[in-house]
Amino acid sequence: MRRIIFIQFDHLNLSYGALKDADPKQDLILFVESARATRDPKWHKTRLYFLISSARHFAADLEAAGFKVLYHYAETVVGGIKEIMQSSEYAGLPVATCEPSSFRLTKSLSSLGLQFVANDFFLTPRDQFRNWASNQKSYLMETFYRAQRIRLNILIEDGKPTGGAWNFDKENRLPPPKKYEYPPYLIHEPDAIDLKVATKIGITAPTDWATSRTGALRVLENFVTNHFGKFGPYEDAMTTDNWALHHSLLSPYLNNGLLHASEVVTAVITKFESGDIPIASAEGFIRQLIGWREYVNGMYWVLGDDYRKHNQLAADRKLLPLFTDSGKTKMNCVSNLVGDIETRAWVHHIPRLMVLSNLALITGTNPQEFLDWMQGAFIDAADWVMVPNVIGMGVHADGGTMMTKPYAAGGAYISRMSNYCGTCPYNPKERVGETACPFTTLYWDFLDRHSEEFSSNHRMSQQIFGLKRLKDLPELRLRAQEVLAGLSEGII
Ligand code: SF4
Repeated sequence: MRRIIFIQFDHLNLSYGALKDADPKQDLILFVESARATRDPKWHKTRLYFLISSARHFAADLEAAGFKVLYHYAETVVGGIKEIMQSSEYAGLPVATCEPSSFRLTKSLSSLGLQFVANDFFLTPRDQFRNWASNQKSYLMETFYRAQRIRLNILIEDGKPTGGAWNFDKENRLPPPKKYEYPPYLIHEPDAIDLKVATKIGITAPTDWATSRTGALRVLENFVTNHFGKFGPYEDAMTTDNWALHHSLLSPYLNNGLLHASEVVTAVITKFESGDIPIASAEGFIRQLIGWREYVNGMYWVLGDDYRKHNQLAADRKLLPLFTDSGKTKMNCVSNLVGDIETRAWVHHIPRLMVLSNLALITGTNPQEFLDWMQGAFIDAADWVMVPNVIGMGVHADGGTMMTKPYAAGGAYISRMSNYCGTCPYNPKERVGETACPFTTLYWDFLDRHSEEFSSNHRMSQQIFGLKRLKDLPELRLRAQEVLAGLSEGII
C-alpha cells in the first residue's frame, strides 16, 4: 500500500475529493465510524441512520469496485484515524483526505498531519467565492447568483437569462393547491445493511431516504420525471396534505456526496431542454442549486469560525420546549412541522425559515441554542449549511452582515402559504386576546422591542411605520409577555 485515503461521511463519491485519483492497487480506503456520535442524543436518529448506512453502503461499493477498504469502529473519528496511523500494519503510511466541509474537522484533521486534496464537492471553489465576496459592498445572493448563471452558462442564451428574466419569484409563490393529487415519492425498502444500522441506532429502518448511490440516483430520476415541472409554483407552499409537495428531496444526497451538484444540473437542464418544464420551475430549482447552496457554503468560509457566536440582538431565551417535543404547543403549524421533523428529520426551506427560525427570532431565542437544535434535527444539516442559514438568515444574529433585514413575519404569511390556520385554536388576524396567533402578537412585539435598532434600516421603515400606527400597543405588550411565558412552559 502506498497511502491511506480517509473518507469523511459527507464525501461519499468516487469521482470527487480524495478518491478521484485513487488507485485500488496502492491505496487503502479508510472509514471511521464514531461510537460517541452514535450515542449523542443531539442527533436525530434518522440522520445518524442515514449517514452511517450511506457510508457503509459506499464502503461496500468501493470493495466491490476492487478497493481495499478498512471500515474502522472507534470512540471518535480523530481517535480512530490515530489508531490506524499508529498500528503496526499501517504506521508510516501517508494519509490523504479531502478538505473537510467544516472548520472543526479541518482543525482536528490538520492536527493529525493529514494531506488535504482540494474540496470539489461544490461548483464554486472556495477561493473563487472569496474573490467574489471581497469585491462586494454587501453580500447579495442575487448578485452572486446572476454571476454564477453566466459563469456556469446555465439558463443563459446570448448572454441573457433564458425566459427574459433572472427570477420568476412572483410565479413561484402559490399557496398549496386544494383537492390535488401529488405524484408518489419513492419508498426505499431497507436492505441488510440498513437493517443492521437501524438496529444499532435503535429505530425501525426509515423508508423515506435512500442510503446508496443507486438509491440517490433513483430519487433524482423521480424528481426530474414527476415533480420538477410543478416545483416552482409550490416551492414555498406548506400543507398537511403532503409532506414533500414537489420538493426534490435531494439535499441529503448532495450534502453527503452521493450526488454531485453538477450531475443534478445536467439532469434538470436536459429535462428542461426537452421542452416539458416551465421556465419558472427550472429557474426556481437552479436558483436553489447553483445560487443559494453555493452562496451559503461560500459565506460559511468567508465569515469564519467565530461567526456562529454572533448574538447581535442579545437574544437570551432558552430553547422553547416545542422544538424538541411537538406535543408542547397548540400552534397547529408548529406542532405539525415539528411532528414531521420527529418522523423523518426533514421539512422544506420555508417551514425552516418562515415558521421555525421566524419563531426563534421573534421570541428572542438564543441563536446558539437554536443553531444547536437545527443542526441535530435535520437529515441534511451540515455545519456549512446551518451556521450561515441560522445565524445570518434565520435569526438575524449577525446584525445584517448577510441579510439586510430580518425574516420576521406574523401569522398572515403562514396563513396565506399553508392550510394550517383553519384548524388552529389561534387566529392569524388577531394580535391581542386569548385566541390571538402567537406569531402575529410576537411579530409586532419583536419590532417594538427592537424598534430603535431597526429605525435606521430603510428596508424596515414600512414595518416600523406600521408599528407606530398600532393603537393597542400597551395591550399587545402584555399579551406578548403571556405568550412568551406560555411558550416557555409549553402550554401555548
Ligand atoms: Fe400557526 Fe398562527 Fe396559523 Fe395557528 S393561527 S397555524 S399559530 S400561523
